Amino acid sequence: MAKILECAKVDPSSGCQHVVRGETEEEVLQKAGEHAKEHGIRQVTPELMARVKANIRDA
Ligand SMILES: [Zn+2]
Repeated sequence: MAKILECAKVDPSSGCQHVVRGETEEEVLQKAGEHAKEHGIRQVTPELMARVKANIRDA
């Protein structure tokens, strides 16, 4: 099943409407890492990764 991750769920303060979509959790995580760069995030911390994983859901 496809997975989605809403950027606003990870960081509500960003006001970002971006939605990351992928066929697998791994794909979503990879795309989320690329999207994070648009927010100036160069290094994904364990805390951020945990928040991202907690917000990935089935599309
Ligand atoms: Zn975003």
